[in-house]
Amino acid sequence: MKNHTVIEINKDALAANLAMFRSVIPRSTRLAAVVKSNAYGHGMTETAGIALDAGADVLAVNSAPEALLLAGQFPQAKILVMGVVPSSFFSSFNHERFSLMVSDVEIMAGISRQSPRAGIHLKVDTGMGRLGIAPEDAARTAEQIKKDGINLTGIATHFASTEDFTEHSYSMRQLTLFREAVDSVKSSGFGQLTAHCAASASAMLFPEAHMDMVRIGIAMYGLWPSEQTRLSLKILGREFSLKPALSWKTRIIHINNLPAGAYVGYGSTYKTTAPAKVAVLPVGYYEGLDRKMSNSGYIITGGQRARIIGRVCMNMTMADVTHISGVKAGDEVTLIGCSGQEEITADEIAGITGTINYETVTRINSELPRIITGD
Ligand SMILES: *Cc1c(COP(=O)(O)O)cnc(C)c1O
Repeated sequence: MKNHTVIEINKDALAANLAMFRSVIPRSTRLAAVVKSNAYGHGMTETAGIALDAGADVLAVNSAPEALLLAGQFPQAKILVMGVVPSSFFSSFNHERFSLMVSDVEIMAGISRQSPRAGIHLKVDTGMGRLGIAPEDAARTAEQIKKDGINLTGIATHFASTEDFTEHSYSMRQLTLFREAVDSVKSSGFGQLTAHCAASASAMLFPEAHMDMVRIGIAMYGLWPSEQTRLSLKILGREFSLKPALSWKTRIIHINNLPAGAYVGYGSTYKTTAPAKVAVLPVGYYEGLDRKMSNSGYIITGGQRARIIGRVCMNMTMADVTHISGVKAGDEVTLIGCSGQEEITADEIAGITGTINYETVTRINSELPRIITGD
């Protein structure tokens, strides 16, 4: 056995999720597959390859190193850098295939001097309170960009709270501000801009936000941006089916037969009340299994759920498998995904650990092998 623990990525699920977006956006709208942060834990190069094969037009990343890694692996791919780029990378993007979202004209000028062929997308802050120029500064900024001879090819914003509510007046206000900024910059002599604002939730909810490109992350992976997004679509009577692409598998490395009254794990937080069969798994919080799963989460083995008992260790976790007959070392364990009739979702784990599915999958250690599978 080469690896006890693997992350399986179902390429057919990823492709189906992307195809679903393709079917709802206009033909002229580009589909950017967001593969930042190791593709939300799914494996960046693996996911990028599948997304390109499935018809993604652009790969969107956060950082310069991510962009350059993908550029080397996929020489034809167009790449959008959404996060901040340090000046030491300004000379790395001198090709039309690269676009960079930037909020500061001085940074744009720096990039344009060293990478004149890179496309710059002006970032507008319509209500996120993070990066971006204020919408009322759009015209003035456009004049400056023109004066500095910057290769402005796009304009972008990001919604702050589409996922958090079923009532979307704040997002609609952001969209209005963005449209005004786009018009203002276009009328300053940039007629050909690629305007984009929608991520997964807004692309599903607001057809009017599709514009020239959508940036799809979480939903491409088959996860819902939030329960509110799912509910909002239900209220609207629009059906989206998403298929989770990631499964996290490991194998039992040892079965411990413990008597009644025995303690399990650090801090002796779990005590058996009857003779128990305890499975030891080679996965802990280093691998990305949240320590808040201690005495709280589940795993699946032998087609049945088993409770995590004791504290999740750095590299190991224990589960009570007393009720599962014939269970033995070497048996497969599912930490996320389907097995038989049972399923553990990233959402279930996020609920137990007090976070969102985005964080649950993104925290899976990038050193674990990603294996591409199909339906
Ligand atoms: C991460 C990110 C996205 C993707 O968001 P999802 O909710 O995962 O679809 C889109 N745009 C920007 C600017 C991002 O940083």
